[in-house]
Amino acid sequence: MQLSMRGREMTRLSGIRSIMEDIATADAAGPRTTANLSPGNPCHIPEVVATWEQLVRETLDEQFCETSTRYGPSRGTPALVEAVVAYFNAAYGWSIRPENVLVGPGSQLLSFIATTLFTGQDEYGDIRRLVLPRTPDYAGYQGLSLDHAGIVGVEPKVSLEGERFFRYRLDIDAVQRLDGIGMMLLSNPSNPSGSTIDTTELTELIAVAKRHDAPLVIDHAYGEPFPRIAPSDIKPVLHSHVINLFTLSKAGLPAERIAFAIGPAHLIDPMVSFVANSVLHAPQLLQATVARALAKGDIDTLTAQHITPCYTAKRALAERLLAESLPAAVNWRLHSGERGMFCWLLVDHHWFDDLEFYGTLKRNGVFIVPGRHFFTPPLTTPFLRAHATRCFRLSLSPNEDELADGIRRLSAILGGLVPDSSGRG
Ligand code: PLP
Repeated sequence: MQLSMRGREMTRLSGIRSIMEDIATADAAGPRTTANLSPGNPCHIPEVVATWEQLVRETLDEQFCETSTRYGPSRGTPALVEAVVAYFNAAYGWSIRPENVLVGPGSQLLSFIATTLFTGQDEYGDIRRLVLPRTPDYAGYQGLSLDHAGIVGVEPKVSLEGERFFRYRLDIDAVQRLDGIGMMLLSNPSNPSGSTIDTTELTELIAVAKRHDAPLVIDHAYGEPFPRIAPSDIKPVLHSHVINLFTLSKAGLPAERIAFAIGPAHLIDPMVSFVANSVLHAPQLLQATVARALAKGDIDTLTAQHITPCYTAKRALAERLLAESLPAAVNWRLHSGERGMFCWLLVDHHWFDDLEFYGTLKRNGVFIVPGRHFFTPPLTTPFLRAHATRCFRLSLSPNEDELADGIRRLSAILGGLVPDSSGRG
């Protein structure tokens, strides 16, 4: 059977598909043989797991029949929508109402819905594209568009910090020069680098969004108000052109597929229709569980007492292990930041290729994510050719032993790649 053009676009072997396959391979091989530093799974924090388990148990005992045995509203259960409204109004002094909220089965799907609604061919035949204003950004964004070449990634500005660090910044001039913007999307703080836009950059992006009458979608998966895995320079904002995405995945429930969008009703409404037409609604047992966590304040306790401290410690450990283990002769740099779910590394040598490195590591039971998956193809500009293929991402979610083992094995393999005559690229 022939695939349609959209079918072909959706079946491309995107970075996210290969990450999902690596998760399955590493899980099947077992932790003793592999060091899986690839997935964006949250850390296994005993107190976080225990709290969710307890909340799910309470919901199961008290609300199974009303939640799991009947269909519900596409916007989300009234209990969760009300809990989101109350939580965000209290946290940010907003006055949002249920029409500003949509619950969905994961923010990946919410991003896909927004991309499908706001990009593509418009009624005048013009193409409006998905713009990622600051790449590298979450690999899962690269598979969102149903249109061929429907995504534009804007290259960042790069500044080097000392011997071993570097940092990305948004290139707002490049964003302002773009035309045909249908929607802008960025994770903030960013997966993979942890970089964050500041208030001035947010204001500038909103001005671009207004000029194109296109939504700016801000994905707070790692940031405010929970799970605060990485620090953010901005708080979520309410604006006629902004949609905010929040997920429970990084706060401990990645497999349960619960996320929500908050924005103006004229942007949220079409997304509710899309949910109705595609998946009907998000799973309700877990919606009830999350409503409890928001209403009782458990989510804030987990964030402040367990999640944020865990990633602060993990990041410090990873920085120490990297500094101790990575070959001194290699010009490697880490994206700076005080915490986050990932370490984003640059190996700035012409002999380094992220895909080859990934393949060699994989054959040796170590999983990472190649840098190019976080940039928008084709990687034809001089910057992308040199930079995107010299980066890779390590996840901090494995336990400390697996993390240490993975970093040591990876460092040894990297050391073996250094050419004999000259280490400098
Ligand atoms: N957004 C970002 C920035 C992510 O890193 C991820 C997962 O890694 C997601 C969204 C996916 O979130 P969800 O599990 O809610 O679909």
